[in-house]
Amino acid sequence: MPYQIQSHCPACQAGDSVVIGNWPEHLGLYLCLSCRQLVNIPTRDGKCPGCGYEPRPDELYDYSRAIPYLGGQMPYTPDTGPVCPRCEGAALQFHNTAHYNMMMVVGNEAGAKATWGRDYVEKAIFMNSTFPVIQEHRLDPRKVFAYFHLDMPSAPLITRSVSYPIALDIRTHLLIHITMNPAAFREGAPPQ
Ligand SMILES: [Zn+2]
Ligand SMILES: [Zn+2]
Repeated sequence: MPYQIQSHCPACQAGDSVVIGNWPEHLGLYLCLSCRQLVNIPTRDGKCPGCGYEPRPDELYDYSRAIPYLGGQMPYTPDTGPVCPRCEGAALQFHNTAHYNMMMVVGNEAGAKATWGRDYVEKAIFMNSTFPVIQEHRLDPRKVFAYFHLDMPSAPLITRSVSYPIALDIRTHLLIHITMNPAAFREGAPPQ
């Protein structure tokens, strides 16, 4: 995680390449009907890179139930994708084509902290996707959030969705840390 995602329209055969999971850099995915493209909206200016439109937070696409893990793996049948922004003739399909190193996110402390106090789809999906492993291993959510340079939300998030590929990679990443340092992230353990 992050992952490179390729969309594909079975009607017009076109598609776009976007990234999911890089919440310090992206507010989320947006289906721009002016540009007729699926795009990442940057946290930097919040605007569509093609036309400059600034989508409202609830206009971003919650991809979490539609985008599978690498090789199409998913523990349930993925949701039907959104309508193709080019031809509007069919639902987009998503292929998860590449995995980037988690350090792209964990190493971006300044980018992460610049988002504190903001609630948006990409960050909410990441936050929600930490909870399966927090619950499974009884970790302290404050320590996990501190590790990822996340702020503790003070209100319900814009979405409650968990992304399977993002949760899977967070789990792998945290379990490697716990193997090296069994007290890391443990409830009640002194801060690391
Ligand atoms: Zn199409
Ligand atoms: Zn646009």
